[in-house]
Amino acid sequence: MNSDSASLIGDNRRLAFDLDDEQLAVLDQADRFARNELYGLSERMDAEEWWPPDAFAKIGDNGLFGVTIPDEYGGAGMDLMAAGLVLQGLGRWNHALALAWLAHENLCTNNIYRNGNEAQRRKYLPGLCSGRMIGALGLTEPGAGSDALGSMRTTARRDGDHYVLNGSKIYITNGPIADVLLIYAKTDKAKGAHGISAFIVEKDFPGFRVAQKLEKMGYRGSQTGELVFEECRVPAENLVGVENRGIAIVMSGLDLERAMVSPLCLAIAERALQLSVDYAQVRQQFGKPIGSFQMVQSMLAEMYVAVETMRTFTYRTLAAAAQLEVGGGGRGDIHMLTAASVMYAAEACHAVLDKAVQVHGGSGYIWESEINRLYRSVKLMEIGAGTTEVRKMIIAGELLKDMNRDG
Ligand SMILES: Cc1cc2nc3c(=O)[nH]c(=O)nc-3n(C[C@H](O)[C@H](O)[C@H](O)COP(=O)(O)OP(=O)(O)OC[C@H]3O[C@@H](n4cnc5c(N)ncnc54)[C@H](O)[C@@H]3O)c2cc1C
Repeated sequence: MNSDSASLIGDNRRLAFDLDDEQLAVLDQADRFARNELYGLSERMDAEEWWPPDAFAKIGDNGLFGVTIPDEYGGAGMDLMAAGLVLQGLGRWNHALALAWLAHENLCTNNIYRNGNEAQRRKYLPGLCSGRMIGALGLTEPGAGSDALGSMRTTARRDGDHYVLNGSKIYITNGPIADVLLIYAKTDKAKGAHGISAFIVEKDFPGFRVAQKLEKMGYRGSQTGELVFEECRVPAENLVGVENRGIAIVMSGLDLERAMVSPLCLAIAERALQLSVDYAQVRQQFGKPIGSFQMVQSMLAEMYVAVETMRTFTYRTLAAAAQLEVGGGGRGDIHMLTAASVMYAAEACHAVLDKAVQVHGGSGYIWESEINRLYRSVKLMEIGAGTTEVRKMIIAGELLKDMNRDG
């Protein structure tokens, strides 16, 4: 396994001329940390669906959580662009931990910061920023995936100074290990998507349990599970924002999440390109390195073009999404742009990994190889945070909104 031979993804300065010095430093720091501290964990995570118990605390100790959270709550006070660069650096060396980072950092921590009140921020953000608490977000349910809002069946009813939650959530990243979960539930079923509220649930609240840990084809080691709420009592003070106004939190959060999935796709594609360039130079057939054959060169060239296009689109979208006001998005240009960015990045990443395995020949088909691990993982990027089809519906819906309004 080759972790340090090529300069392809090591020399950020040569590749990312569109980043300023501060941004380059953020990417460099995350890349260096992940290469030294997280890369060595990835094989066992993949083999055993193993969760490294100290990894989150280490990430926190290195200042790589709470990127978008102000200093007063324990964060770094930077923007979404910086958060995307941290994710890119981590994703190159341990994409499963990077996915866990994304759920913790963006879906949970950043959401609580943007939508929570002062007491909630003070109570939860320091632990989340230090990595001593693990965060997750629960939207998807067994019967509510692409139609997460309309088909949501989890309910929350007010009972004195508590809400009582009933229902279940599925495929929740970090679910089996989370201390703090941002959970969406219907507080007014009659109002449909406009009767949804967001709650902060702690793992020890009575009535909450992890029903099962799920075994995955890729991103193994990031913990994914089914969560159950049976008369789960949540203090009323843990309602995030206003009752029945959860839709704005969901929609705004999804736009940010989509902007943030793209750097993870980019990171994996960068790593796959590096591994393929390395392999093309050392693998000999017909008495020559396979990199000397034009058909292999063609695959490498196409992979490079895809990576550089992903980089441009990813950074542009992150920069735009970094400007999103609280509660904004869920419609308009940013909604369309973030859906387009993640749709493109996921499909391009899939195409890059397909070529990367082809360059590796039989060795790429072997389960333990790094390229195989990446290949098995990237399909998720076309499913999570809204499928490719949902992304197309968003884009077309925005392009045709006048027709839809008039019709
Ligand atoms: C590993 C993993 C981690 C995840 N992490 C989280 C998490 O942390 N939190 C969370 O809340 N969720 C999480 N998810 C859930 C994820 O967001 C959903 O799986 C996704 O939104 C799709 O929902 P679904 O699986 O129910 O598929 P479905 O909605 O059942 O879709 C099945 C197929 O039908 C298509 N389809 C559905 N509706 C339409 C339509 N109207 N038009 C055309 N095609 C359509 C879809 O595109 C897809 O191809 C995770 C999923 C996985 C696999």
